[in-house]
Amino acid sequence: MDIYRSPTFDMACEQFDLVADLLNLEQSLRERVKYPKRSFTVAVPVRMDSGEVRLFAGYRVQHHLSLGPTKGGLRFHPDVTLGEVAALAMWMSWKCALTGLPYGGAKGGVACDPHRMSLSELERVTRRFTQEIIPFIGPQTDIPAPDVGSNEQMMAWIMDTYSIHAGHSVPGVVTGKPVNLGGSLGRREATGRGVAYLVSRAMDMLKMRADQSTAVVQGYGNVGSVAAQTMAAHGVRITGISDVSGGCYNSKGIDLQKLDAHLAEHRTLAGFTEADAVSNEQLLELECDVLVPAALERQITAANAGKLRCRILAEGANGPTTPDADVVLDQRGDIFVIPDILCNSGGVVVSYFEWVQDLQSFFWDEGEIMSKLYRILETAFTQTVNYARQRSLSMRLAALSLGIKRVCDAKTKRGLFP
Ligand code: NAD
Repeated sequence: MDIYRSPTFDMACEQFDLVADLLNLEQSLRERVKYPKRSFTVAVPVRMDSGEVRLFAGYRVQHHLSLGPTKGGLRFHPDVTLGEVAALAMWMSWKCALTGLPYGGAKGGVACDPHRMSLSELERVTRRFTQEIIPFIGPQTDIPAPDVGSNEQMMAWIMDTYSIHAGHSVPGVVTGKPVNLGGSLGRREATGRGVAYLVSRAMDMLKMRADQSTAVVQGYGNVGSVAAQTMAAHGVRITGISDVSGGCYNSKGIDLQKLDAHLAEHRTLAGFTEADAVSNEQLLELECDVLVPAALERQITAANAGKLRCRILAEGANGPTTPDADVVLDQRGDIFVIPDILCNSGGVVVSYFEWVQDLQSFFWDEGEIMSKLYRILETAFTQTVNYARQRSLSMRLAALSLGIKRVCDAKTKRGLFP
C-alpha cells in the first residue's frame, strides 16, 4: 500500500499501530482495518476565465464500509495529496465510530488554490470533480461535506450536479448545504460549537473558570472562528488568533466583532491594527489557558511541544499534533488534550443529523439539533475520560482505542466474504 506514503498518512498509521498493540489486534485484522477500502484519483479538466484549460488532480478515499456508507469532507487546497486524504479518511472512521454514527470514514479533495480562483472557476472545478466521482458517491454509498477551502455554496453545486444526473433532487448526497436546499440548522456552527462545548467540559473537570481564562486560536476559518466566538460568549478572553497570513495577539483580549469587520473588508488578518502581529509559530507558544489549533495537520511537533504554555489543548483541526509531539506532551503531563477525533466531531454529528433529515424530508428545529449534539458529545467525552483513567492512557490513545475497537468489532461480526 505504498501509494498512500506521505507524512500525514505515516502519522495516522503510527497512531493506529500504537493502538493495535494496545488492543492486541491479530495481524490479519490489523491490515484490513488500517488500509483504505477504496480510493479514486480523477483528472479534473477546467476551463479558466482566461480561456486556458487546466488539469487538476482530484481524490476520494473511502476507508471502510463495515458500519454503513462512508462520510467525510472535501478539501480544496494546493497541498492536497492522495496520502493526506487517506489519513483524513482513516481519522474520520475512528471519529464516526467513537461518536456512534453509522458510517465509515471518507475524505476527498482537489489540489487547487480556491483563493486564487474566481467564483465561476470554482463552480466549474467543483461540478467537474463531482461529475468524475458520481459513480462512487450517493446517499447510501458515500456522502461528502465541507472541509478546508470548501463551503456551503460548493456543497450546493455538488448536490445540483448529482441531482441533474439522477433526474430528481437528491439532497442526501452531501451535507453542509445551505439550509433552504435541505441543509441542517446549526451545521455551519456545529464543529466550532462542539469544540467550545468540550473545552467547557474540560474546564469543569480541571476546576477552571471560563471568565478567568484565555484562549489562543490558530486558523480563523469555519471551525476556528465559531470556536473563538462561542468561547468568548462563555466569558473566555481570546488573546491570540491567526490565519494563513499570520497571527495577532492582544493580552487584553481581541475584539472579535472588529476582527470580523476587518476580515469582511480585507479577507485576511494581515493589517489588523487592534493587536500585535505574531507569526503562526510564535502564536502556538503564547501563554494561555486554552490553545485551539484549527488549521492544518502537523502544527505541534517534537520541536515546539515542549514550549506550549497552555493548560488545555483542544484540537479543532484534524491531525494537528504529531506522534513525536504526543510523547513530549505525555512526559510533561501538565496539558489536558482533547484529541481531534473527539474535539472536532460536532461537525460530522450534525452532518449525520442533516443526512437523516434529508432522508425523511422532515426537518428539526435548532434547539433539538443542538441538544442532540451535546448529548452525543457528552457521552463520547465521558467514555473517553473513563477509558483513559481506567487504563492509564492519554486521551488520544483512549479515543482512538474506542473508535478502532468498534470498527474491529463490526468487521469481525460481519465476517470475511466469501
Ligand atoms: P477553513 O478553510 O474554513 O479555515 C481554515 C483556516 O486556517 C483559515 O483561516 C486559513 O487562513 C487558516 N490557515 C490555513 N493554513 C494555515 C497555516 N499554515 N497557519 C495558520 N492558519 C492557516 O477550514 P475549516 O473547515 O475551518 O477546517 C479547519 C480544520 O478543521 C481542518 O483541519 C479540518 O479538517 C478540520 N475540521 C473541519 C470541520 C468542518 O466542519 N469544517 C469538521 C471537522 C474538522
